[in-house]
Amino acid sequence: MKPAPLHAKMAQGTSHINFLLFVILILPFIIQVSAKYYDWHYEGEVGIHTWHANYNICAAGNHQSPIDIITKDTVYDDVLKEFIIWYNPHHPKGQMIAFNDGRTVKIKTIGKFYIANGGLANPYKIDHLHLHWGVKNNNGTEHYINSQSFTMELHIVSYDVKKYDTVQKAASQPMGLAVLGVLFKESDIDNPALDLIVDNLKAMQQPGHPKVNLEAKSLRMFLPKDISRYYRYNGSLTTPACYESVIWTIFEEYNFISKKQMQKIRDLFYVYDAAEEQERLNRAKNNGTESTTETPSATLAGEGNTTDINDLFRKYRFEMVNNFRPVQDLNDRTVLRSFKELRKQSPIKTNPGNSTTSINALVHPWVTFFLLFLYLWALA
Ligand SMILES: [Zn+2]
Repeated sequence: MKPAPLHAKMAQGTSHINFLLFVILILPFIIQVSAKYYDWHYEGEVGIHTWHANYNICAAGNHQSPIDIITKDTVYDDVLKEFIIWYNPHHPKGQMIAFNDGRTVKIKTIGKFYIANGGLANPYKIDHLHLHWGVKNNNGTEHYINSQSFTMELHIVSYDVKKYDTVQKAASQPMGLAVLGVLFKESDIDNPALDLIVDNLKAMQQPGHPKVNLEAKSLRMFLPKDISRYYRYNGSLTTPACYESVIWTIFEEYNFISKKQMQKIRDLFYVYDAAEEQERLNRAKNNGTESTTETPSATLAGEGNTTDINDLFRKYRFEMVNNFRPVQDLNDRTVLRSFKELRKQSPIKTNPGNSTTSINALVHPWVTFFLLFLYLWALA
């Protein structure tokens, strides 16, 4: 790599000053934008600390979600049988439509997507999927297991189709919704099931971007290998209006997402910038291509060292990260579980590249130490 010439370094220094001025000038505007376009959000003027003002249940409810699942306190319930995740892949009208809603990436399911069994009294129709994640790998999920957070949480939101004809009607009713939660941990290997989502995120980087039609697939592929082991409790929506209408399922086994895939998700933006988008379209028109390789922040910040500017810019609300609600009090609730025995190490890993469970994950280091000790003792 060539060393940067002096005038380039000077330009870089000037661009930093320009950028700081830019941040000072535009930051109040960004905050206003989020307040103007959103009645609630995760940060800023309409952040989590303000939810209770417009949505009473968020603060007053005592069966709120998410929660910290302390596994030793959970109780086995033999009613909690394995789920049936149903989707007919040959149905011609099945659709999955992905979009950036300004708070998360949502994938609306249209067609015969259902879940049944799993201790549910009725079949539930899947309405959509969405994700929650953080800026850090160990702090991105809504639900905690034994006070530990993971990288990302997938929610598959469904409603009691026997009682209600729309998700909106079901959303405020007791047990109107059933949400399946899958916790993801970062790995070095891509999770091929997630490619369907992450490979399309560039096209919906900002909330104003057009929706993307994904190939409709069985949602089973997003779940961990073993879906017979899960936790169950009654809770709420983790977003306003925080209705206490949700039968929650959190699978014990977690799933995997690679660093690279996670970065593509973190490259989404909360705020739509119409001027930037117009500029991008004009550029693409002039070049005769639909290039989307340049990020909005680079363009907004102007000339100069765009990598540094991007890094600084990310800190100011644009990057879609930390879209999770903190854990809520359990209060008088008991978390049930579908399996008799707790594992020594929980949850067990599912390797996305290999369908077998790693034996190493099942053997506690102390067991190895003890066996080694016995062996040496026998030799002596
Ligand atoms: Zn959610």
